[in-house]
Amino acid sequence: MTARILVVDDVPANLKLLEARLLAEYFDVLTAEDGYKALAICDATHVDVILLDVMMPGIDGFEVCERLKANPRTAHIPVVMVTALDQPSDRVRGLKAGADDFLTKPVNDLQLISRVKSLVRLKTLSDELRIRADTAHNLVLEDMLKGADGREEAGQVLLVDNRASSQERIVRTLKPIAQVTAMSDPQAALFEAAEHPFDLVIVNAAVEEYDPLRLCSQLRSLERTRFLPMLLVTELGNDEMVVRALDIGVNDYIVRPIDPNELVARTLTQIKRKRYNDRLRMSVRQTIELAVTDALTGLQNRRYLDNHLKVLFNRAAARSRTLSICITDIDRFKSVNDTYGHDAGDEVLRQFAARIRATVRGADLACRYGGEEFVVVMPDTDAHAAAAIAERLRDSIERSPFVLKTAGVALNITASLGIACNSMGADTPEQLLKQADMALYEAKNAGRNRVVAAAA
Ligand code: GH3
Ligand code: MG
Ligand code: MG
Repeated sequence: MTARILVVDDVPANLKLLEARLLAEYFDVLTAEDGYKALAICDATHVDVILLDVMMPGIDGFEVCERLKANPRTAHIPVVMVTALDQPSDRVRGLKAGADDFLTKPVNDLQLISRVKSLVRLKTLSDELRIRADTAHNLVLEDMLKGADGREEAGQVLLVDNRASSQERIVRTLKPIAQVTAMSDPQAALFEAAEHPFDLVIVNAAVEEYDPLRLCSQLRSLERTRFLPMLLVTELGNDEMVVRALDIGVNDYIVRPIDPNELVARTLTQIKRKRYNDRLRMSVRQTIELAVTDALTGLQNRRYLDNHLKVLFNRAAARSRTLSICITDIDRFKSVNDTYGHDAGDEVLRQFAARIRATVRGADLACRYGGEEFVVVMPDTDAHAAAAIAERLRDSIERSPFVLKTAGVALNITASLGIACNSMGADTPEQLLKQADMALYEAKNAGRNRVVAAAA
């Protein structure tokens, strides 16, 4: 989907100019001649980035920005303030109003497009997080998204710059918002970036001693650093290098002499983007975990077992190793529900799972197979050892009562267990499960609270 950019300027010629440049890059463009119209558009439709002129009759750009940032429905839309070059104080006011970036009039094409693209990427990521937080009933994610809005630890920035004076100036400028590690040697910096979790690398491109773009492309290709944002510091009139840098995957650039406010804004944008990215990857992992985890007990679920048992079974077969499986079913569990209620039953299931977890080894796979049935898969475990483990598990259930605080009772619970080992001739994981299940059935028939091994 193409991003939609809203351009706000009271001078029609400026609007036309910016609109034409953005359209040439296939952006979807909306325009507004004053602040009120801009606010109305943001309220009524979806906007991805706003280019906002400062000097306008009626309400000026600062106030528009403040209002956008104060409204929860529009606060997440990135705002680029378009300021006059001779008014550096505008940038400070812009930052205070919540602006995400600056452009200086007359607007340079390269700056316009690279900035807008950078903010569109950021917006896409934050939108994705927002959607997931909405739909996944994922409260953890919502917390993470909130964490992105300032209440979190300072960003970690790696600065690669072999000029002491410039190094010192950048470190000082970023001090309030980030922790900066400054390095002179690009090779050492590459190692440093691979070793430590940075949120951004700032590379001074105005050096003769080495090729800064080579460092950038190395950072992009290394596994450990390929998601790390990069910000290039260049000299005025070095557009050709900037184009190549953006091609390589550098995320943004800033031109000397460095305006401290601009550096701060650009750095914050990149750090934010990096963190959104990290959160998204984390949420993908979490979603995957949720899909294979039983919500009540925290053990793996049946879906996971069905997949993973195959893997473990085939691996054991290929390596001629033993593999045992244990199915356990709580005895007369229905009566717990009937007597003390379903919640009490759930609490027994949770505690039962905890006892299983405490009994088996870390290498074993413990799953809730369904209702009050649990399965433990034990790699490198023969029938004899499996019998001993199952007996230990049976004993850990019987030995002490299950204390249900809310119901105010202590229940004596027992379980029946069936075990089977791949040494008993099962050709498939399904057969192995079947053997263990039949052994469990025997254990129930023989009076419950016991372990039965499948017959060889
Ligand atoms: P047996 O000794 O033969 O295994 O008797 P049982 O009562 O344990 O066996 P049965 O299979 O007849 O009953 C199992 C019960 O487990 C019935 C069902 O209501 C209950 N159950 C299944 N899943 C859950 C759950 O998630 N929470 C609760 N509280 N109960 C559950
Ligand atoms: Mg049962
Ligand atoms: Mg059952």
